[in-house]
Amino acid sequence: MMLAVQMDLLNAVGRINDMAVAWNHVIDLVWVVNRIAVLTLFILVLATGWSSIRYGWLHRLFRGRSYPSLVAYGWVLALLWWVVQLPGNFYQHAKYPAPDADSFGGWLTGQIGSLLPVMLGIAVLAWLPYRLLRWSPHRWWLWLGAASAPALLAVFVLQPVWTVRASGLHPLQDTSLSAEIRALAARCGIAHPQVVVGGDDTHVVGLGGASAIVLQSDLQKVENPAQIRFTIAHELKHYVEGDNWKAWVISVALVLLIGGTFHFAGRPLTRRWKDQFGFDEIADPRSLPLLAVCVVLVWTAILPLFLSYNRHIERDADRFGLALSGEEHAAGALFRSWKDELSLPDTDVFGRLIRANHPSTSERIRMAETFEPSEGDLPELCVRGQALPSNGTASP
Ligand SMILES: [Zn+2]
Repeated sequence: MMLAVQMDLLNAVGRINDMAVAWNHVIDLVWVVNRIAVLTLFILVLATGWSSIRYGWLHRLFRGRSYPSLVAYGWVLALLWWVVQLPGNFYQHAKYPAPDADSFGGWLTGQIGSLLPVMLGIAVLAWLPYRLLRWSPHRWWLWLGAASAPALLAVFVLQPVWTVRASGLHPLQDTSLSAEIRALAARCGIAHPQVVVGGDDTHVVGLGGASAIVLQSDLQKVENPAQIRFTIAHELKHYVEGDNWKAWVISVALVLLIGGTFHFAGRPLTRRWKDQFGFDEIADPRSLPLLAVCVVLVWTAILPLFLSYNRHIERDADRFGLALSGEEHAAGALFRSWKDELSLPDTDVFGRLIRANHPSTSERIRMAETFEPSEGDLPELCVRGQALPSNGTASP
């Protein structure tokens, strides 16, 4: 009897793992197929001269005005980009193994929603590289990087303001939680951390003095007080060490890398294939699909590096959070509660390479449950903490 129960349990665990493995393979496969589809699309658009013909047609339609022609052409390309990914995305939607899947209508609305920011980005930004290319044909990509630095800085600095305004976030009302947060922050010499509540993700927005900790609206429902102390301590690492500054530097470097790739690889390619492409310089807006190819290739190439660096930052934030709060039991129980049957398995190496922006839940459980404080966990200005005796403290 006992053996039968154990076998049932083993079978259930096996099924859950099989399901997670199969589902994550679907996501990995769709990721690869979609990237191949997008690259093939843009290469065909270039190689068949379609880009030249279509842009020429739009240019005549808008009576030679370059801004509306470029934006309209960018939107046509964005629409094609969206359409070639639809079959893959639908396959992924159809393969979702859990009962809480979106309806077809909900899925389609989400897909349309993903197109709108791309179109907005094209309307706001696509003219800039082409204007700079005309103005400084040899150094334009450096100017692009230089222009992106203050622009992205403004985006990062203003992010807390519009996050609060646009997403209906509100200042933290709970005075006891607020006191707990102030006590934790004071251990790192921060007198008045800005804390707001709303949305479904706890994170830090903004840069320097303009940073704010955003607490997900149901935090007090899904975590007990000890777990909340750990979570806040984790977020304080991002706040204290200015991790969003690193994100800003990476964003500027990414713009430089894309611009540099378009400049150094795009120019010789355009000269070599000018008869097929129907244009002979990258300053011609007909080169927009080539710029899109550079964006996809550069982003795909650096994505694993970026994610690996992000996992490193998050690993440090966990150690920081454990050391500052002293809540390793509560953190271990919290991570255990996150293990769901579809999470990315540790064995899916490719999936982790292209998608994992945090250490795996198993790794985080191991880290919390075997945590031994060490010198490097906290910067010098912070004072290590001990778990507070509280009724909500979970112990395994
Ligand atoms: Zn984090």
